[in-house]
Amino acid sequence: MNKALIVLSGGQDSTTCLYWAINEFGRDNVSSLSFDYGQRHKIELEAAKKVSEIAAVAHEILPIDTFSALGGNALTDDIDVQDEADDNDADIDGSLSDSSLPNTFVPGRNLVFLTFAAAYAYQRSIKHLVTGVAQTDYSGYPDCRENTLSSLEQTLRLGMEYDITIHTPLMNLNKSDTVALAEKLGAMDAMAYTHTCYNGEQPPCGHCQACILRAKGFAEANRADPLIERFQFFSRNRNDKTNDE
Ligand code: ZN
Repeated sequence: MNKALIVLSGGQDSTTCLYWAINEFGRDNVSSLSFDYGQRHKIELEAAKKVSEIAAVAHEILPIDTFSALGGNALTDDIDVQDEADDNDADIDGSLSDSSLPNTFVPGRNLVFLTFAAAYAYQRSIKHLVTGVAQTDYSGYPDCRENTLSSLEQTLRLGMEYDITIHTPLMNLNKSDTVALAEKLGAMDAMAYTHTCYNGEQPPCGHCQACILRAKGFAEANRADPLIERFQFFSRNRNDKTNDE
């Protein structure tokens, strides 16, 4: 039977991919893998664990704490995340100048994640990797593009002599399509426990690039974000309690 491994960040997109894989391969054949790469916000890993529990799939965290030693980005270092997508315009041909990448870009991250995931999969006879990267609607990260992923797939096949496939079900979907897909796949219960905010805030900050894109997607899909609803529910309950006292 075909088995699949999801690279799970604990965010909206990889969670949608987890449910895509359950639908495609069957729950018993799906497992998830997260990376402790020195990210500032461990809340991502907690989200990945919780999402895996809700989806009832096995989950493991691999420690690869090296990116913070490389420095220079806002996800592992103590520097401010750039607000808004103010300088992320890709050229018409899809190429980007160096300066156009936001400081949330961690160079090499997806390449390393997928290489480790492939090695992990190899040891467990898993032949399908699933990742939530998309080349639409994002900050133009070059390691999320289709040509990067198909080239990496080819490299992994050659380098391990192993017939592995990288699935990217969200590659050409915009955020609102992704929300619609998550809804269709029954991922919304888990969505309430995902984490997207670049500032690591809970409830989400609402003004970082990640929060803005997420909110835009749910607004365009005409669907309330279960994550936001969860916090509204808690704060309502807290207020009710305070009023009772
Ligand atoms: Zn945020």
